[in-house]
Amino acid sequence: MEKQKLLYEGKAKKVYTTQDPKLLIVAYKDDATAFNGQKKGTIQGKGAINNRMTNLLMSRLEREGIPTHLVEELSARETLVKKVSIVPLEVIVRNIAAGSFSKRYGVEEGLVFNAPTLEFSYKNDALGDPLLNDDHAVALGLASREELALIRKYALVVNEVLGRIWADCGVTLVDFKVEFGRLGDGTIVLADEISPDTCRLWDAKTKEKLDKDRFRRDLGGVEEAYVRVMERLTNGL
Ligand code: ADP
Ligand code: UDP
Repeated sequence: MEKQKLLYEGKAKKVYTTQDPKLLIVAYKDDATAFNGQKKGTIQGKGAINNRMTNLLMSRLEREGIPTHLVEELSARETLVKKVSIVPLEVIVRNIAAGSFSKRYGVEEGLVFNAPTLEFSYKNDALGDPLLNDDHAVALGLASREELALIRKYALVVNEVLGRIWADCGVTLVDFKVEFGRLGDGTIVLADEISPDTCRLWDAKTKEKLDKDRFRRDLGGVEEAYVRVMERLTNGL
């Protein structure tokens, strides 16, 4: 399968059409942005790591019963996926308080929740991805009640499966964002990516950050963190 036309260029990936109208090719870039695009930079080698990691994790999730858009990894940076119509929600699951949750509610980063906490943001850069509840999502026509229930169920299974995978590698899954989409027949599948760009991953022992927060907060060692966390995933502890 080959790339035809550039359909969309986002902040971290390019999306191309293929000869098959039901399939797309996603190409991962090294570009990084934060704070709704205000901070821009490059994380050398990130595209290849995010491509590999997303595909490894999505394959594991498929085996655990979560339908995903993954078809086949084509090269270091490119993957063939099923074309979906993205549900414009950022589905965020949190196990430990961090980032915008800590800021919004005034709780220290590191507070461990008794149970996972799920929230939705409206995927809309112009509005700054505002937080929204189920009623808002339905009122805006972003998804039906049934779809929201399924997305919630899938997101919690994703959290369980990913939490276990990372724990086995000595890494704590603090929080993450996922996106879902609809296939032609309306089936909801997990789409987009699962990587250190979209997850907070802390070393379980030292709590060292091994994710995009190193870039967001100018902590240094950004490239090394991506390489190390990928090595953890492939080699275990
Ligand atoms: P952004 O648009 O936020 O800058 P990216 O650079 O990651 O993000 O661009 C990838 C885009 O492709 C995102 O808008 C994402 O929702 C979309 N996308 C991911 N998977 C699929 C898919 N299987 N079919 C269609 N669009 C997808
Ligand atoms: N996240 C993401 N894309 C976004 C917003 C958040 O991938 O546009 C991820 C982020 O990497 C973290 C989780 O979702 O793992 C929760 O992010 P949070 O709401 O705390 O926002 P942030 O602090 O990143 O602004």
